[in-house]
Amino acid sequence: MGLLVVGSIGLDDIETPFDKIENALGGSTTYISLAASYFTGPVSIVGVVGDDFSIEHIKMLENHNVDLEGLQIVEGAKTFRYGCRYNYDLNVRDSLYTHLNVFERFNPNIPARNKKSPFVILGNIAPSLQITVLDQLEEPKFIVCDTMNFWINGALDDLLKVLKRVNVLIINDSEARLLSNEPNLIKSAHKIIGMGPEYLIIKKGEHGALLFGNNTVFSAPAYPMENIFDPTGAGDAFAGGFTGYLHKNRDFSFHNLKRAVIYGSVMASFCVEKFSTKGLEDLSYLEIHNRFIEFRELSSFN
Ligand code: AMP
Repeated sequence: MGLLVVGSIGLDDIETPFDKIENALGGSTTYISLAASYFTGPVSIVGVVGDDFSIEHIKMLENHNVDLEGLQIVEGAKTFRYGCRYNYDLNVRDSLYTHLNVFERFNPNIPARNKKSPFVILGNIAPSLQITVLDQLEEPKFIVCDTMNFWINGALDDLLKVLKRVNVLIINDSEARLLSNEPNLIKSAHKIIGMGPEYLIIKKGEHGALLFGNNTVFSAPAYPMENIFDPTGAGDAFAGGFTGYLHKNRDFSFHNLKRAVIYGSVMASFCVEKFSTKGLEDLSYLEIHNRFIEFRELSSFN
């Protein structure tokens, strides 16, 4: 049974200190499904776009063996749109606008055959929609969830309900501090695990990631990158690589979760090398594997 991804599909306007791009393909589902597609397939997505969404984007996803049966295209409506600006410190992003557009009336309808998917990634969308998805699943075994400050600030009650029903929460360091109301990341992690998820991954932008669970912690190294063009989607690429790898081998030992965190970091590192989804569109499994080895060598010592 395939991997199911539910989240946003959108058009982004992105400004970095080096460049600017408008109308770029974005959205949590888009990045997640592309990253996961290098490990497993087909990846089934459920989402919604307006009739302004380009057919080229649809073809590109299909070429990555992404199953689009659950994609709704609403005539006369506009696709979700997000605008952001990065500072010189590319870990800091100012969201400029979030136009939910077609998402305001979105009701995620999971196709019958995907309701049995044991593996589901709840990408970054309104927690109330994440609950609607969870309610439709018949045999959930491994649920990975992402969220962001927009929802922690605006829909905390629903988000807390979601957290009780997921196996892994993936968030970044500032979101972890916001969610737990605790500045120290270790204390913050304990508080968040207390909210429900079995495992917690805290991403630290270009400084690596922490995996918490089973009363233990793993610190994934940062990949030393000279060229970061666009950090947008890095978190989603991480979630796609992490879950895609686990979906492929179904080994949930902590040891294998650590490897999955490194594969997530590998996919995030490819994502940020180019604007929008371009860094995830033309990879080979060999390139991915080689970068995994580089990651391993970065932090190996006796
Ligand atoms: P990331 O950089 O991993 O946090 O993901 C960025 C993607 O998330 C962008 O392509 C946006 O289109 C999408 N996004 C931003 N804000 C939201 C939101 N409030 N709900 C759903 N998706 C969002």
